[in-house]
Amino acid sequence: MLAALRPLHKAIEELTLARASGRVLAAAQQALVASPPADNSAMDGYAARALDWAHRKPLPVSQYLPAGAEAQPLDSGTAVRIFTGAPLPKGADAVLAQELAELSGAEVMVAAAAETPPVGCHVRRRGEDFAQGARLLPAGRRLFPQDIGLLAAAGIASVPVYAPLRVAVLSTGDELLEPGAPPTSALRRPYNSNRPTLIALLGELGMEALDGGIAPDDRAQLSECLDTLAEQADCIISTGGVSVGDRDMLRRVVTERGETQLWQVAIKPGKPLLFGSVGEVPLFALPGNPAAVFICFRVLVRSCLLRLQGAEPETAPVLRARAVFSAPANQREEYLRASLRRANDGEMGIHPLGQQSSGALRPLADADCLARIPAGIAINAGDWLEVLPLRGG
Ligand code: AMP
Ligand code: MG
Repeated sequence: MLAALRPLHKAIEELTLARASGRVLAAAQQALVASPPADNSAMDGYAARALDWAHRKPLPVSQYLPAGAEAQPLDSGTAVRIFTGAPLPKGADAVLAQELAELSGAEVMVAAAAETPPVGCHVRRRGEDFAQGARLLPAGRRLFPQDIGLLAAAGIASVPVYAPLRVAVLSTGDELLEPGAPPTSALRRPYNSNRPTLIALLGELGMEALDGGIAPDDRAQLSECLDTLAEQADCIISTGGVSVGDRDMLRRVVTERGETQLWQVAIKPGKPLLFGSVGEVPLFALPGNPAAVFICFRVLVRSCLLRLQGAEPETAPVLRARAVFSAPANQREEYLRASLRRANDGEMGIHPLGQQSSGALRPLADADCLARIPAGIAINAGDWLEVLPLRGG
């Protein structure tokens, strides 16, 4: 799927840092200034020349330097009162932490029990974090909150980012009721949960969801819906109607009107997934079952959308935990809804939640991770499995 997709090169907009988190950089960023911008103290204490501290004699205190103050060059043979973040006076090269200082009147010396502060002690050098002109972030970087701070420290107030990907979300199914509609106990129809789930997932990626509503299980209407959405959106995510039932119209419509690149994947849940296009517009047709929708998005669709958005592939930590269960081998790669709990040996143990039905939402909401069971491998208690955390913060 990734190989079939190219970045869409959306319009570029300039956003202030406060609004840029989650968006994808359209141009590499370089530091306008060095950080720290000047040599400064990393501690509250006294700054002097290390050579003078080494005499272990009282030094007169010649300046008072809180953060934000301007430092005068150090008078030789003196020390200055200095606070964290204050500029280091020219000539001073070692800060004595105030806990290790001994004061007498207007003089300071290293306390008897303390060691002499060496050159560079508690000094943060100009540019030690990054130099002026340093490459900070490449184009294609999806901005994390920690990147925002980095850019701000480098003197950057706004950045060029790609306009958000516009993703149409289409639900299919004659049975579906929109949340908010009175529960029709007579008909006992299920509420559409996939649509709000997908809209929320897209929101987390900083993308724009275009609400395609609910299409009935009818060839002509489904076909019309897809055509309309393909005109308005950069890509389409549909749910339902893609399996092998008589009323699963979506696959037929795509076969007639679009192109199918892939149908059915060896994962559980999520087998019926179809990947194709309507005209030039990529289509991710997910199964209808809500847990399958979430897992297909998390495991397969998300990285495709990021690629369309222009984001470079991201490294993510691979996390492993220990199975506290056993399971027979399965032909498909399986994603278990599970919770992680620390075992007596200190390692995290994977506890699958009771219900693993692809239609069940409760265990998905209760899960703090998905545990990945590779295809064709039987699991014994104590085996290490990869886990995908579900709750970022
Ligand atoms: P389908 O893939 O269309 O056969 O749907 C599989 C199951 O998922 C059926 O029980 C559907 O009622 C259910 N389903 C399909 N779409 C949704 C949706 N948007 N929200 C909640 N359940 C759905
Ligand atoms: Mg259906």
